[in-house]
Amino acid sequence: MFIAEIMGVGDELLYGETVDTNTAEIAVSLRPYAVEVRRTIRVADHLQTLAGEIRQAWRQARLVVLSGGLGPTPDDITREAIAAALDEALEPDPAVLEWLERLFADRGWKMPEANRKQALKIPSARWIANPRGTAPGWWVHREGKDLVCLPGPPAEWRPMWAETLPQLHLPQKPYKQVSLKTFGLGESRIVELLGGLFQRNGQVEVGTYAKVDGVAVVIRGQPNLVDPLAERIRPLLGEAVWGQDDDTLPLLALRTLEARQATLATLESVTGGVLGALLTGVAGASRRYLGGLVSYSQAAKAQLPMDPGIATRHGVVSAAFAEALASAAREMLQATYALSTTGVAGPETLEGQPVGTLYVGLAGPDGTKSRHYRLPGASREMLRQRAAHAALAFLVSELRGAR
Ligand code: AMP
Ligand code: MG
Repeated sequence: MFIAEIMGVGDELLYGETVDTNTAEIAVSLRPYAVEVRRTIRVADHLQTLAGEIRQAWRQARLVVLSGGLGPTPDDITREAIAAALDEALEPDPAVLEWLERLFADRGWKMPEANRKQALKIPSARWIANPRGTAPGWWVHREGKDLVCLPGPPAEWRPMWAETLPQLHLPQKPYKQVSLKTFGLGESRIVELLGGLFQRNGQVEVGTYAKVDGVAVVIRGQPNLVDPLAERIRPLLGEAVWGQDDDTLPLLALRTLEARQATLATLESVTGGVLGALLTGVAGASRRYLGGLVSYSQAAKAQLPMDPGIATRHGVVSAAFAEALASAAREMLQATYALSTTGVAGPETLEGQPVGTLYVGLAGPDGTKSRHYRLPGASREMLRQRAAHAALAFLVSELRGAR
């Protein structure tokens, strides 16, 4: 089997100042290949430790990919560690040194001495040009094995890796992935619904991934098996499926509104503007999203054009109040549809309702509706995000159902 190991290098990765996303992203990029990622690790900027890990990886794996530690400062020692592990000497490359000096000269600076080491390379390495920074990468091909070393910042290594990966000529694996995006079902409920279709064998694999926009059911494996399986799974998830693959709820909501030539307004309480932020994160949102109001305090709610008796009779965390908010927003902004959110973000309960309670109101040409949710979530931020996505999922499913 073709074995790969991936390493993130840097002290900051060990203490959580930077979360190591590089190793996961590189591992994902290897999915279409018949490559088994046996280990992904984070290693400190410590010469002996890193050299030891590289030596071991080089022994065990056919492909080793590293990121980080190629900077100009003394703590960046990845080059030295690779040289030690592969028992080669670092040599300056005059052409790269010249390129570096010109890079600085173009900005009107003199190259600091510290950057000289970025032009060092071991003889068996080839350069990987860095179009966005001063740290070029290395590609070592030796003894029928490959080692690729990339800089740490994702914006820098992504184009470098995209160029290098195909050149490695890794064995291909026929591979396809379909991701069915759902809202409103928990992972265990999905496992229950899928029964025997929730399978994992050498040819095809089903997995669930919980995100703020719901649970994604991912079907991956041999292309000829993935599509038929996805088509059997989809009806079992029913109405909960709101999209597929790269779809996002804000984008889908705006696209659905566009198709109906309809506009949207929002009136947010518990989500505090997160709903508006999600919608305005999409370029061109103003065509369909008119705007919204965050009405957070009791005082602000009292100013809204609605019957104050509703809050007294039903409470502000109630279906009736959510619906009243939505109608008020629809009227104020003269929108085709309006969404509202009211609920309990915690940490304290409100009006006797537990943290995670959410009511979403939806007002439209055919009247006003609402949905009640009990969202899971460890933090206020998580709950606000989930609540805003719940509101969008509600809108999308209602618009699809409407004539
Ligand atoms: P370096 O190449 O070690 O100088 O890394 C420069 C920067 O890249 C770090 O400060 C991080 O912001 C980012 N970075 C490095 N390694 C990783 C990683 N494994 N995951 C995500 N970001 C990283
Ligand atoms: Mg570093």
